Amino acid sequence: MKSIYWIRNDLRLADNPALVAAVRSGETIPIYIHDPKTTYKWRAGAASKVWLHHSLKALELSYENKGGKLFFRKGDPLKLFPELVRSEDIQAVYWNKSYEPESQRIENELEKILSEMGVRVRSYSSYLFFEPGTVLTKQQTPYKVFTPFYNTALKQLEAKPPLPPPVKIDTPETIHGAVQLDELELLPSYLWWKKLVDHWNFGENAAGKMLDEFLDAKIIRYSTERDFLASHTTSKLSPYLHHGEISPNQLLWTIQQQANSGVSVEARNSSDAFIRQLIWREFAYSLLFYHPQTPDEPLHAQFSSFPWQDNDSLFVKWKNGETGYPVVDTAMRELWETGSMHNRARMIVASFLTKDLLIPWQRGAEWFWDTLFDADLANNTFGWQWTAGCGADASPYYRIFNPETQSRKFDNLAEYLKKWLPELRKLDHKAIHAPWKISSSQLENAGIKLGKEYPYPIVDHSQAREKALQLYQLWKFGLSSAD
Ligand SMILES: Cc1cc2nc3c(=O)[nH]c(=O)nc-3n(C[C@H](O)[C@H](O)[C@H](O)COP(=O)(O)OP(=O)(O)OC[C@H]3O[C@@H](n4cnc5c(N)ncnc54)[C@H](O)[C@@H]3O)c2cc1C
Repeated sequence: MKSIYWIRNDLRLADNPALVAAVRSGETIPIYIHDPKTTYKWRAGAASKVWLHHSLKALELSYENKGGKLFFRKGDPLKLFPELVRSEDIQAVYWNKSYEPESQRIENELEKILSEMGVRVRSYSSYLFFEPGTVLTKQQTPYKVFTPFYNTALKQLEAKPPLPPPVKIDTPETIHGAVQLDELELLPSYLWWKKLVDHWNFGENAAGKMLDEFLDAKIIRYSTERDFLASHTTSKLSPYLHHGEISPNQLLWTIQQQANSGVSVEARNSSDAFIRQLIWREFAYSLLFYHPQTPDEPLHAQFSSFPWQDNDSLFVKWKNGETGYPVVDTAMRELWETGSMHNRARMIVASFLTKDLLIPWQRGAEWFWDTLFDADLANNTFGWQWTAGCGADASPYYRIFNPETQSRKFDNLAEYLKKWLPELRKLDHKAIHAPWKISSSQLENAGIKLGKEYPYPIVDHSQAREKALQLYQLWKFGLSSAD
């Protein structure tokens, strides 16, 4: 029997149920399809495509090492599959499920088309611990708050021994219409991405090494230090998880094996804290499943009438890391340089955009979508709505991060600030968090003139905070008087 194994966010050979099933059935065509003409708003952003290119290159090599080939095609999968079924005489199609609303729509349509053609379709779960819709309240309704979701999820959570990669993969030599990876044109012609890729290694082996490094050297401090901006204790696995270079089950299994082998209380606490973060990811996917409109609209619909004050020039300053608030600028520069950003920094810059600048969260989410290597529709939507105060279990609107306090608390020695803001490096670790507060002689000694080497703050945080709170009260009052 000849089959197709359709690859999307599962760029690995190990712990891959669809690949294992396809290989068991006989000769298979592992294929990645890129649709450059899709008009879907949340198609892969620029940074994601750069990651995809490099990861697919690594995967291509893995297939060659198993005696097989990875094929690429360009076009609409709904049109290409029927053509491939006919030209390659295909009897079955295998895939691992993907959970964005658009990929689910395509999967459903494709399943119908293939079934009508008499082709057997088999789909598998490996992207999440739980299929969305399987962690439910006693009344069988979805959770809207994280902690009870987490408690129920923990009771249902079970790591399975990861599936080994196939020993050999039997594929044809060629297929009709195949193109080379470069012809997918995932890499932009302007080489801005070159500096980003220097910070990462791509593919399944790189993900495994990252996990080993996390377990050997970092996890022990994860529960106590992960919020510190320069601590390097988080796993940095999010882009690998997003692109499926590692499965959540592989992570859970490995961590539980280590935890069961008699480790300290600190290590156990850290494993628990890490698994809790993985369950935030499950929660975000559950929310996206039940509220597929939320990448564009607030979960709490009343927030649609919130009087945001969009402003292009302030938005550009935020994007470029030129706000005059060192911690915000550092985080935005880290994003430009590495395609990534620490979780706490994401919260700080998101709070600054939505509350100090009153710019709609959707603009921030779109910028992250284009620039993050781990851009993920469920997690990004959840993170932005949470910070803006309009999502599930959200940080309340009146919780407005003070960038200076956050900076002093989570980067006390200014290691993070000094890494990405060279123009402020000569300031000492106490002064650097708020350069507008220090004397002109101190600035002069460090070779800085505010407004020249480094900007004045684009807003005054305390005034911006008051303004945001007033606006919120007026808006809420308007809502309640209209009720
Ligand atoms: C405004 C905003 C936008 C965000 N956008 C994204 C995004 O596009 N993609 C993305 O993967 N994460 C996003 N996050 C969540 C979080 O910031 C990243 O997952 C985390 O920084 C990744 O680093 P890590 O792999 O070292 O995390 P670790 O601390 O090592 O956590 C392990 C894994 O758990 C998951 N995780 C951790 N924190 C969260 C969280 N708060 N919500 C959901 N899952 C989580 C991730 O898959 C992560 O890789 C966003 C958060 C905010 C506040």
